Amino acid sequence: MSKREKPPQEKKPTRTYQFRLYPTHKQERTLEEWLVLCCEVYDAALDERKSAYRIAGVSLSYEDQCAELPGCKEVRPDLALVPSQVLQDVVKRVDLAFAAFFQRVEEGKKPGFPRFKSRFRYHSLTFKQFGNSFEIHTQGQKNRGMLELAKLGQVKMVLHRPITGTPKTAIVKRTPTGKWFVNITVELSPKLTQESHMPPSEKEVGIDVGLKTFAYLSTAEEIANPRFFREDEARLARAQRQLSEAAKGSKEREKKRKIVARTHERIANRRKNFIEQEVCKLVARFGFIAVEALVVRNMVKNPRLAKSIADASWSQFFMRLLAKAEEAGRQVVKVNPSYTSQTCSACGRRQPMPLSVRVYECTQCGLVIHRDHNGSLNILANARQACGRAGRVIPEAPGAVAVGSRHSASNWLIIASVNSCGSI
Ligand SMILES: [Zn+2]
Repeated sequence: MSKREKPPQEKKPTRTYQFRLYPTHKQERTLEEWLVLCCEVYDAALDERKSAYRIAGVSLSYEDQCAELPGCKEVRPDLALVPSQVLQDVVKRVDLAFAAFFQRVEEGKKPGFPRFKSRFRYHSLTFKQFGNSFEIHTQGQKNRGMLELAKLGQVKMVLHRPITGTPKTAIVKRTPTGKWFVNITVELSPKLTQESHMPPSEKEVGIDVGLKTFAYLSTAEEIANPRFFREDEARLARAQRQLSEAAKGSKEREKKRKIVARTHERIANRRKNFIEQEVCKLVARFGFIAVEALVVRNMVKNPRLAKSIADASWSQFFMRLLAKAEEAGRQVVKVNPSYTSQTCSACGRRQPMPLSVRVYECTQCGLVIHRDHNGSLNILANARQACGRAGRVIPEAPGAVAVGSRHSASNWLIIASVNSCGSI
């Protein structure tokens, strides 16, 4: 049903800037209308694909559906108010949703079928071509900028930092609290990429993410879980209770809904801030960073751990770490997380380690070490060993001397390695 024959394009290094937008009331109304229309097109395109396959066994492609857009505009003149490229991108999103679905089917997973979107969950518009559907104007004054959008005109934008690189796409989005932002993705030239590299560092680190602490480093340092996550959580629970108590359709409910949205937004901001700071510190200090390839999605299914994991936001942390490391020219190696907590980092013996046991005491060599510190040392050792042979499963491993394990050696592998040329 999918068409995925296209060769993957070579990925150039990019960087994304986020700027706050201040549309006028009139512009805001237009953007809101566009969001509603795009959402309609999204659902229609999804429906068409489903029906075409169900009724005629036909798989529609992105190109097929794009070719229908002009006809749609004749029937629905209001669609012509939205820039064509923005509409094309809506069709692209449907295409990507299907591609991701089939990808996961191929990998033997059980993905959810692409779903219809409610207009309350459709938040962003993509402007794809710099110089055509969007432009950026700086006004010489500090922080003052304008984002010019096709069929809308100039929107006030706070340029809190200068843009370097060639702009490629602009995604205009509305947050649940009604703030507007634009994400501008730029492509970096080889020269700019070189400039963003940090001075080389020989220092290595293994990072073990945990529950009690956010992360433990092989240098025996600890990144604590910020307390404000818990505090905000209590606040959110209260706000949500008040929302559910308010009568449906009432003004009161609308007010409570805004409070909940604001609390969510603040939690997300604080988390983002925390992760950004920690990632910056790590990337500045270490040239070689080893982490676990954690399948966060699977772990969240375990209800007892879910809250803490969601809080600690590991996936966000890893994503930022990879991106930041790529930009800075650092190497990140992901290793298979199996047995990193059960294996003794000194002698390689394995023993069961229930989550409640916080100290690793080796019965073979007598090593006594913090549970997560042991894990981080193993992660670093695995990454180091795997590294000279990038991308391949390493058959021999220090853990191979394990006692009483059901699995044999092949659990060390590089999942991904980011190097200075930015390939993953
Ligand atoms: Zn030992």
